[in-house]
Amino acid sequence: MKKIAILGSTGSIGTQTLAIAREQKDIEVTALAAGSNIAALERQIREFAPKLACVYDEEKAKELRVNIADLSTEVVSGMEGLLAVASHPDSEIFVSAVVGMLGVRPTIAAIRSGKKIALANKETLVTAGHLIMPLAKEHGVPILPVDSEHSAIFQCLQGREENRISKILLTASGGPFRGKTRAELGQIQVEDALKHPNWSMGKKITIDSSTLVNKGLEVMEAKWLFDVSLEQIQVVVHPQSVIHSAVEYEDGAVIAQLGTPDMRLPIQYALYYPKRRPLSGKRLDLCSFGSLTFEQPDTETFPGLKLAYDAMARGGNVPTIYNAANEKAVALFLDKKISYLAITEIIESCMEQIAYKKHPSLEEILETEALVYEAIERYDR
Ligand code: NDP
Ligand code: MG
Repeated sequence: MKKIAILGSTGSIGTQTLAIAREQKDIEVTALAAGSNIAALERQIREFAPKLACVYDEEKAKELRVNIADLSTEVVSGMEGLLAVASHPDSEIFVSAVVGMLGVRPTIAAIRSGKKIALANKETLVTAGHLIMPLAKEHGVPILPVDSEHSAIFQCLQGREENRISKILLTASGGPFRGKTRAELGQIQVEDALKHPNWSMGKKITIDSSTLVNKGLEVMEAKWLFDVSLEQIQVVVHPQSVIHSAVEYEDGAVIAQLGTPDMRLPIQYALYYPKRRPLSGKRLDLCSFGSLTFEQPDTETFPGLKLAYDAMARGGNVPTIYNAANEKAVALFLDKKISYLAITEIIESCMEQIAYKKHPSLEEILETEALVYEAIERYDR
């Protein structure tokens, strides 16, 4: 049996991870954590019988304890609870499927307790890659990518031996607003931005995909995971999302991974790596596409990607500023408090304002996050 703990089990990646556990039959779920959705969490607890469950919200945790009084699952809450889920003694793999840089501390706790990390939560590497990657090395635990592009790159690197790669081709769908002008983007409402052309995902990443901030976060994620320079990462817009990413070796050979837009494949690959297993679902039918197309990203209309390259090139706490500003701005946009275009304006303004820290510690990363939130409070909207 494979024993897994999932942070963010009620979300898009979390529920698909449990769908794999349901299908494969040799996965034991030892611990689950969610933010506040206790109805969904209770259903999962009744089906998978984890030993431990965490609800971040203390009041909701109390409610859940009453609702599952007939079961033996222990219910904990808050950050302490998330850390307990991450380091649960029975689990071998920690699936980080929470949204945002909240995932940093639990991921560190999981690495310290020797878990393999199946990482969907890209914000953790964006903000703390300089701490996470060396820590994982020190503890001898692999960071197995779940993000589809990074899983694709990881798959293309199998059997690489000592061969050098010259670049990574990170594909992007271009989002629902590809081809639109800035003036048109000024009119975008929350409902428009929540419609992704190819993938069905949580709200925050869906908005990030539409602004190209998601691709910016993924460039930073790729840099940490695959230890390449920024110049070696080329973003290619590929609206059909059939090629999930590719690697170019130094002899010019390009190896790509293709498939349907189904996150269960990268999740399953991370859970069973290096083994492949049968997986239900639709298969890729290349002929049904007729043609696959590629273009350069439009970084003038969508500055989110350019700002990410800038943040990563400056390094230090700037990627944290970029990420924290985006997290807050997206939450405000989803609450209809700011306009669509204000998201990247806020990121840019925070990157200009917040003091630079060269090699931020975990405390300094969290401090930077707090400073960004204060700056956004002051932002004139
Ligand atoms: P969702 O919004 O669908 O799910 C988020 C999960 O995190 C929910 O289970 C939510 O619980 C939980 N959560 C929120 N706040 C807390 C908290 N304070 N403590 C504990 N749990 C919390 O997100 P996605 O699944 O879409 O994304 C998860 C991560 O994976 C993100 O980093 C995203 O970028 C990445 N990713 C997602 C992909 C996708 O296809 N969805 C693809 C590639 C990467 P609750 O339900 O109670 O709110
Ligand atoms: Mg992705």
